[in-house]
Amino acid sequence: MSASSRKSETIELMGKLGVKPEALEGGDLAVYSPTNGEKIADVKKSSASEINAQIEKAHEAFKKWRTVPGPRRGELVRLLGEELRAAKDDLGRLVSLEAGKIPSEGAGEVQEMIDICDFAVGLSRQLYGLTIATERQDHRMMETWHPLGVVGVISAFNFPVAVWSWNAALALACGNAVVWKPSEKSPLTALACQAILDRALKKFGDAPEGLITTFIAERDGGEVMVDHEKVALVSATGSTRMGRQVGPRVAQRFGRTILELGGNNAGIVCPSADMDMAVRAIAFGAMGTAGQRCTTTRRLFVHESVYDDMVAQLKKAYLGVTIGDPLSSDALVGPLIDKEAGDNMEKALEAAKAVGGKVTGGERVDVNGDASYYFRPALVEMPEQTGPMLEETFAPILYVTKYSDFEDAIAMQNAVGAGLSSCIFTLNVREAETFLSAVGSDCGITNVNIGTSGAEVGGAFGGEKETGGGRESGSDAWKAYMRRATNTVNYGTALPLAQGVSFDID
Ligand code: NAD
Repeated sequence: MSASSRKSETIELMGKLGVKPEALEGGDLAVYSPTNGEKIADVKKSSASEINAQIEKAHEAFKKWRTVPGPRRGELVRLLGEELRAAKDDLGRLVSLEAGKIPSEGAGEVQEMIDICDFAVGLSRQLYGLTIATERQDHRMMETWHPLGVVGVISAFNFPVAVWSWNAALALACGNAVVWKPSEKSPLTALACQAILDRALKKFGDAPEGLITTFIAERDGGEVMVDHEKVALVSATGSTRMGRQVGPRVAQRFGRTILELGGNNAGIVCPSADMDMAVRAIAFGAMGTAGQRCTTTRRLFVHESVYDDMVAQLKKAYLGVTIGDPLSSDALVGPLIDKEAGDNMEKALEAAKAVGGKVTGGERVDVNGDASYYFRPALVEMPEQTGPMLEETFAPILYVTKYSDFEDAIAMQNAVGAGLSSCIFTLNVREAETFLSAVGSDCGITNVNIGTSGAEVGGAFGGEKETGGGRESGSDAWKAYMRRATNTVNYGTALPLAQGVSFDID
């Protein structure tokens, strides 16, 4: 498929999704499709004053939205889910065009948006607090949860639409306004989401103007939002480097953050593992999305008794996997996002070789010429955990190291900065339960006989240590989008003080 037809497909898809062609021309931010490296749009970036005005407006909208009953707020999220169902095929394809995901992953990302909308609709009727036993006679103590304010969402290129929906669906149900800064590498899917949302807002009827909006900007525009005192919560998804900048800036003004940062996720393969299941789970976890998921499997610790068998099976998978243009083939591995990502992959492989790593795969594959960056995923046998294995390289590289002692395997799994996702393959209940216990994996996601990637919306999503500690999506992650008040009511005639303190002014 030629470059110009990619551009015309973009215009056509955007049109179907509700974005006018004018929005794709004449702007100051060039957008490229990683599928063939061609420029597909020039979109307009917002200035600092435009971003500030948008946030002020969102704050005004919040003051109205917080008084709307929760289930009515849920109705807006339900309508968004309906619009997403109707747009699933087109939006999924646009994700493939702009982020390079294979079609089933592009569609899967939109399905995740629909799922979180369903979750948040139910949640809008369940924003409950506790009633707590009080030590004082004729008193009642309880918790109430209130809307927080404007939620600023910063998202990464690799989940260009799902991360926004995780935040937006919960934030809206919880009574907040939302301002979104998508990645500068994936602004088109964001403009499409805003158009989809605008249809839901229209059907809803009386949502305050400016309640949920998007602006296109690079890092400096993100910083404007990060520093704005009317943004009560900054939910930022991206690299640990970004989190190190955003976290302290928001803390400086006592704002709140949800930080969803980098991962360096590992799996452990034990002697009793179901090898066939493990190979398939690891292949998807490590090579899927061309290694560009925060939860991608990047390290593997394999027991010495099954090491040779596992490595042989993985090598076969790595040398056989299909690499190609996600828009015109049924390949399983698409492109890296850009040249920088390709350079980082090559540098990491060189560094691994320098410390004794034996590389299978990893070579650049010519799919659509020099302007696109397709690589065969790399399997690297490492004599020990060292060098680039200790850091996240956002590319399909899987480092494999042998272990003999189970405790050592857990120690190696935990010995990196990031703490997002982890998994173990074993049929031994002691190993499985130890891995899940307090002395096991230190990650936010710990799986047994499932790979590291592919979480469902029902669970809280996020990780520890350099992954930032934030939680989004399911379980009680909604609490981060609300403020808690502890209320104590005295319905008696006396005024007993807590802890038996007396302060008698007679
Ligand atoms: P990135 O950090 O380069 O950019 C992410 C976003 O942060 C972009 O929108 C960018 O403009 C913005 N940004 C960067 N610096 C900023 C600053 N100082 N102030 C405000 N905004 C700023 O990340 P990327 O390359 O787009 O995405 C890949 C990274 O994201 C990987 O490290 C991956 O693990 C991580 N990620 C994490 C999760 C998670 O849930 N933990 C999910 C997806 C991606």
